[in-house]
Amino acid sequence: SQPILEVRDLTVEYETGERAVVAVDGVDLDVHPGEFVGVVGESGCGKSTLLFAIAQLLSPPAAITSGSVRFQGQNLVAMSEKKLAALRWRDFSVVMQSAMNALNPVTSIGTQFRDAIVAHDEPVADDRPAEVLRLVGIDPIHLNSYPHQLSGGMRQRAMIAMALLFTPDLIIMDEPTSALDVVAQRSLMLQIKELQERLGFAVVFVTHDMSLISHFSDQLMVMYAGQVVELGATRAVFDDPAHPYSKGLLDAFPSIRGPKLPLIGIPGSPPDLANPPSGCRFHPRCPVAFDDCPRVEPELYRVGPVQARCLLHAPGYTPAAEAVREAT
Ligand code: SF4
Ligand code: MG
Repeated sequence: SQPILEVRDLTVEYETGERAVVAVDGVDLDVHPGEFVGVVGESGCGKSTLLFAIAQLLSPPAAITSGSVRFQGQNLVAMSEKKLAALRWRDFSVVMQSAMNALNPVTSIGTQFRDAIVAHDEPVADDRPAEVLRLVGIDPIHLNSYPHQLSGGMRQRAMIAMALLFTPDLIIMDEPTSALDVVAQRSLMLQIKELQERLGFAVVFVTHDMSLISHFSDQLMVMYAGQVVELGATRAVFDDPAHPYSKGLLDAFPSIRGPKLPLIGIPGSPPDLANPPSGCRFHPRCPVAFDDCPRVEPELYRVGPVQARCLLHAPGYTPAAEAVREAT
């Protein structure tokens, strides 16, 4: 099938005075109808920025400086705000990290749902707000509730219900479970997956928790320092991660039921994007870095069923040999 979402060479920069900071660097991604794509990385790797860029929700000083985001064949980057506003919620919707911030605290859930319907001038059945609440397992009596009257898990569910109002083809989610405890997180993930399978929408799901997402996603994209460092079928990445950073992420979260541990074998934190390391951006933290890593910029290389941005996988490359091409 044709991808519902085609991201090509997407680059986002932050203007910071003397130099631009590249927060998302030439990302390509295809999402097919009904597909669940996980985007993982530590905070500061550009994954939320990528998600905001896809949804055209960036605000200054961040801006898309090149590339395209085709959704159902239309380039969102070139689209007027008016047209975008009509597409958002109706054809694709966005679920943010904190429903507490996304929902209006002084308006009941039902009023917020009805406002969204009115704003879109779309024919929606009168009982649709009750129906979408039921879909996420909330008693429709809570249409009368205010956000603060709901638990954290229920608020996230209410946000997902709102995202479902117009039965969109794509839902973009930014760590919607991260504020919840492990049990609530697991239950919300199961519910999202069940809804996705039942209703058939595609999902792009941003998270720092690789082992959480690996149970639910079809495709996995691992980001580091604004770049895609590994991309492939979730099973393939999970069973045999090709990039040392993916391995580190997997080790960091041994089980979604277990305690979260710091990145094992990967000390340090993501680089300052204003001043990324030379060569492979991961080299200062990489447990298997070798002498060429600070000098040569890896591309995405095909590694069996996945792609990985690591010199160990460059065609014909042996660490002992001369660099295949000079870093620029
Ligand atoms: Fe590690 Fe070198 Fe591969 Fe980068 S290119 S991930 S530093 S081995
Ligand atoms: Mg984030």
